[in-house]
Amino acid sequence: MTFKYYLLIFTLILICFTSCKNNKVKTEKETQSEKQETVVEPKIDSVDIAIINGNILDGTGKKSYLSNIYINDDSIVYIGNLTNLNLKIGKTIDANGNYVSPGFIDLHAHGNPLSTPDFENFLAMGVTTIVLGQDGSSANVKDLKSYIDKVNEQNLGVNIVEFIGHGTLRNLAGIGVKSKISEVELDNLKDILKDQLKYTFGLSTGLEYAPGLYADESELLALAKIVGKQNKMIMSHMRNEDDDAIIESIKELSRQGTNTRVHIAHLKSVYGKEKHRANEILDTIKKIKNSGINFTADMYPYMASYTGISIVFPDWSKTPQQFEKAKKTRRKELEDFIRNKVNLRNGPEATLLGSTPYTGMTLAEAAGSKNKPFEKFLIEDLGPQGSSAAYFVMNKELQETFLKDPIIGICSDGSKTGHHPRGHGTFAKIIETYVVKDSILSLEEAIRKMTSYAAEILQLQQRGSLAIGNKADIIIFDANNIKAPADYVNPYQLATGFEKVLVNGKLVRDNEQLTEQLGGKVLLPE
Ligand SMILES: [Zn+2]
Repeated sequence: MTFKYYLLIFTLILICFTSCKNNKVKTEKETQSEKQETVVEPKIDSVDIAIINGNILDGTGKKSYLSNIYINDDSIVYIGNLTNLNLKIGKTIDANGNYVSPGFIDLHAHGNPLSTPDFENFLAMGVTTIVLGQDGSSANVKDLKSYIDKVNEQNLGVNIVEFIGHGTLRNLAGIGVKSKISEVELDNLKDILKDQLKYTFGLSTGLEYAPGLYADESELLALAKIVGKQNKMIMSHMRNEDDDAIIESIKELSRQGTNTRVHIAHLKSVYGKEKHRANEILDTIKKIKNSGINFTADMYPYMASYTGISIVFPDWSKTPQQFEKAKKTRRKELEDFIRNKVNLRNGPEATLLGSTPYTGMTLAEAAGSKNKPFEKFLIEDLGPQGSSAAYFVMNKELQETFLKDPIIGICSDGSKTGHHPRGHGTFAKIIETYVVKDSILSLEEAIRKMTSYAAEILQLQQRGSLAIGNKADIIIFDANNIKAPADYVNPYQLATGFEKVLVNGKLVRDNEQLTEQLGGKVLLPE
């Protein structure tokens, strides 16, 4: 009995031991397969930069997580923890638990890279790539390749994506403000477009400005075909942004969308009001998207627009020649038009002039200083080319409804020299006001709109998200410290709070200061 008893105990112990061992083996196998699913740590002996202790917001909209990012040359080589004890690190940046995200991509910006190449206004608000050549107006050169080479020789702060301006194309083709163009002229436009598209991401139109406004539907559709064939896109400052015309403007753009991807620049409704109107406009866009057209839009987070004063002059008086003729032959009509237009746009008190000698004065104040009604002042003292101005024409509730919608991307529409706070504030204001203060957007969603969504719209490769192999355009910040002090009185104040800004793997701004060697370049389509 005793022997049998001991045998039983021994067998039980053996069974238990074997099964525990099997379990342990299984667990190790499972762990191994889990490891294989994540990225295997590559053999890396040295990196140029290690960003450690970062709270990674990868740009896709996912929640943040703690990790390190390793950079060699201009690219991210690893995200995680490199365990190689002999790893040589050129420079360590300790993020101290702050957010590390892709640099922002500004879908619609302005500026001349040959005169203000550092573009510090953009870097200071976390922007590492800007899209130029907007509103139908791009570098006025036939040989775009040489122009780009010249831009690349500058000490560029940000990356630049170029679009070709449709108005510029018309000027280069010698068409200018003609409304009906011949077959030969159209062929000429198409040839220049085909050539310049090689270096650019698409065509921009500015149909509210001369000479773009003179283009008819057949011209725009013919150009859209060329753009689509090269798999590029059209970004459009639409024909009319007034509330009673905006749906028709969107439809006009959607017709070009049967040939190519199309995008609304700085979506707004001039004097449209309230949430329900925003939803009507968004529904129009979504219906077009659902019909299979690749249709997107961007906007800036301010309630005043900013552009040349020609916006309040009639179409038949926008160019200098037309204006001289209109003054002589249609003077009364011209005055009536301008008076009505400005009053519709909330009156002369809601127009803030941005060019010398009237910078910072409202149209009402400037006209008052000359003892004239504002329409006479506009004709006699300014003219359509005489000034730029900010126009307080937007409704907060309507614009914020746009902002919340996932199909709306972000742009500044600003420049280093424009007298409007958007050029120095936009991307910081999105975080300071709409994420932190008013909780209108989650931080993840705001960052997605400003990074991966912008890259997706442009079909910009290897940028807009933090991933192994992507270019190292990276910013480090504490969301609670982001400030956008620029306002309408003093619009040139730099944003603060983006502690470190890297462009193409180079630290270009550190502790609110530019470093000597900047890292931007003109990006070419793949
Ligand atoms: Zn525009």
